[in-house]
Amino acid sequence: MNTPVIGVLALQGDVREHLVALAAADAVARPVRRPEELAEVDGLVLPGGESTTISKLAVLFGVMEPLRARVRGGMPVYGTCAGMIMLADKILDPRSGQETIGGIDMIVRRNAFGRQNESFEAAVDVRGVEGDPVEGVFIRAPWVESVGAETEVLAEHGGHIVAVRQGNALATSFHPELTGDHRVHSLFVDMVRASRTAESL
Ligand code: GLN
Repeated sequence: MNTPVIGVLALQGDVREHLVALAAADAVARPVRRPEELAEVDGLVLPGGESTTISKLAVLFGVMEPLRARVRGGMPVYGTCAGMIMLADKILDPRSGQETIGGIDMIVRRNAFGRQNESFEAAVDVRGVEGDPVEGVFIRAPWVESVGAETEVLAEHGGHIVAVRQGNALATSFHPELTGDHRVHSLFVDMVRASRTAESL
């Protein structure tokens, strides 16, 4: 058996939906708040929510530096929406006191889609996800303004980058955890499995 244990950073945001989606994608899923809990997982999801709040709580809970260390060390990580912002090496328009974990060489614009349209759904073709397009739920969503040479673009919507991967870090502007379609979570669970296998070789 190769059932990975995947955490969901549970400081704020749609934690429960990710736990359900990960379980449906055959992972053991558990909430992570403290450094000791982070140390026990094979991979981590950063949920949607409010990135400034998540950033401040991560510092307050003493988990920001451990998060950076694990991401630097190659732990697979998947961020949705606010979680995507947390993975950006740079935010175009940060709020004061807002920090990121970093890990993906990209510049992200917060609330980029939100100003015209608070929330919408659109079919998104995601590279690496077989079959029909994914139903993308965008809620005050960021987009990726630009990426570095090592960052792979997995999806675009309306001419803007909405899904990326760099090494073991995956990020989407939208929320697959809200749709009942677990293919993006399965893609991430596969990344975690592959990384565990590579470690044990
Ligand atoms: N706009 C939010 C932020 O800046 C993200 C919204 C979301 O995660 N649905 O953090």
